[in-house]
Amino acid sequence: MHRSIATVSLSGTLRQKLEAIAAAGFDGIELFEADFINFKGTATELRGIAADLGLSIDLYQPFRDFEGMPQAQFLRSLERAERKFDLMQALGAPMVLCCSNTSPLCVDDPSLAAAQLHALAERAARRNLRVGFEALAWGRHTSRYGQAWQIVKQADHAHLGLILDSFHTLSLKDDPAGIAEIPGEKIFFLQMADAPLLAMDVLQWARHHRSFPGQGDFDVVGFFEQVLRAGYTGPLSLEIFNDIFRETPNRRTAVDAMRSLLYLESEARQRIATLQPQRVELFNPPPVAALSGLAFIEFAADEASARTLDTLVRQLGFRRIGKHRSKAVTLYRQGEINFIVNAQPDSFARGRFEAHGTSVCALGVRCADPLAAVGRATAMRSKRHDSPVGPNELRVPAVVAPGGNLIHFVPEALGANGLYEADFILEDDAPDSNDAGLAQIDHVALGLAVDQLDTWVLFTRAVLGLEAGESLELADPFGLIRSRGVANAERSVRLVLNVSLSQRTRTARTLSVTGGGAVHHIALRCEDIFAAAAKLRANGTRFVPIADNYYDDLATRIDLAPELLARMRAAGVLFDRSPAGDYLHIYTESFEGGLFFEVAQRIGRYDAYGALNAPARMASQAQD
Ligand code: MG
Ligand code: MG
Repeated sequence: MHRSIATVSLSGTLRQKLEAIAAAGFDGIELFEADFINFKGTATELRGIAADLGLSIDLYQPFRDFEGMPQAQFLRSLERAERKFDLMQALGAPMVLCCSNTSPLCVDDPSLAAAQLHALAERAARRNLRVGFEALAWGRHTSRYGQAWQIVKQADHAHLGLILDSFHTLSLKDDPAGIAEIPGEKIFFLQMADAPLLAMDVLQWARHHRSFPGQGDFDVVGFFEQVLRAGYTGPLSLEIFNDIFRETPNRRTAVDAMRSLLYLESEARQRIATLQPQRVELFNPPPVAALSGLAFIEFAADEASARTLDTLVRQLGFRRIGKHRSKAVTLYRQGEINFIVNAQPDSFARGRFEAHGTSVCALGVRCADPLAAVGRATAMRSKRHDSPVGPNELRVPAVVAPGGNLIHFVPEALGANGLYEADFILEDDAPDSNDAGLAQIDHVALGLAVDQLDTWVLFTRAVLGLEAGESLELADPFGLIRSRGVANAERSVRLVLNVSLSQRTRTARTLSVTGGGAVHHIALRCEDIFAAAAKLRANGTRFVPIADNYYDDLATRIDLAPELLARMRAAGVLFDRSPAGDYLHIYTESFEGGLFFEVAQRIGRYDAYGALNAPARMASQAQD
């Protein structure tokens, strides 16, 4: 497909936007009028810049408040259109987007709208330009694609067609199924946008909160599928109005934009596999490789913090089971959980986190076919990472996650020790008296800068095949945290993405140390949280104390056996219940860099993260 993006979707000057768009591999742009009006150059110069970058100017947009007007305004608008047509010819832009009228002067008369649009198309045809008519969700009399199509059909002019925009249809909960019935050649242009589900005014929603396909909650794949079923063969474009994208570095936004289109195409491709004829070629990446669990977490540390961490993880019940063959790297294990502490001075990890104490630099995910997983990731525009490998060491393929941490794909076939036998000199596997029964990594929570959440949601969906859960807002004493879980279908890989909306929360302060995109806690799962908590306390682990008031309130909210409540109160264990099951958990005090651990027990099919209890932790941490 011809891939395009509206210039309004990115930050920067117009020239910087075009450079970022070209670098990300787009074929063309929609030129947003305000970007041109404020450009210090002529249309011919801009045309040259775009051509030098290999970009076509596919659309000039928007042309407002045209159809259904009283005669005097209509004639004035035709003159206005002629001036825009002059400009479009100088730009080499073949099409203008005419969005449905929002003016109070607009008359509710589809036949008049059709006649006036016919006149506009006639003027455009004299210059071999085309007009696309788009229903804005807040258009005065035309707000749905079905209405816009009836007007275009009635106008019946070869130079007038329909422009579809997923935002306007999906935000009104309009059914896109009817799109498949529209003749494909009468759909002139397609704009795709996703958005989070928000209960707010549609204009504010549209102007501030759109996102790239795969970042929000809309069924954008289903919408695109209908457009393909119609037989559409024109550009696939993105038009995203988003407050955060306006300030995010535009190179990153452009990469997200391209990844979103590749994801959209590859998902839609599966839906129309049996459709004949196939009119367009859709991106066909290697399929998502199924993940089956978190194999290890790697920490980067200097020598001093590696010693602190050694004490801490041993208190958590881990035993040291190996030393790396060639590097200053130590392996710890408890149950199926492996921690790797990397104190190698020249490592990739240390290079990134120098002077930041301890932080997580890599995750290992188990996967049946690591090479396929890396193939999928690179097809979806993630970078592959190859670390230097010593003799007799295993090469585990890795990719760079947004923010710079590594994700290693660990072959399942290697079994529990296979990966480590090659790289580590394993010590005696004797049981350790510190063992607290922690068995698996339940989830890894990341603290992200505000502009990284959408990037991560798309990365985890498109590259790792994870599903995004609901987005929650949690109160820290110093601001709001937005939290969203992502997990694979079988729930053996879970990440929690947390964003601080304030500069003053603990999450935000962790970010300022690590530069963003850092793990801020690791949750470890056990079968008996009371036994685990008692053992960990005996080992010297310190937990975040929970206010007595929390338990008084819990008893009023949830019907709990008094003995269970008393045990939780005594142990400082937090509780959450969903219809599917229960979640019991406890947080350790944080150590340098702000990192801490959570110990959790899942009962039944509980599928969340105890997020409602996070305020209890954050308030307690603030009262230290
Ligand atoms: Mg639009
Ligand atoms: Mg957690």
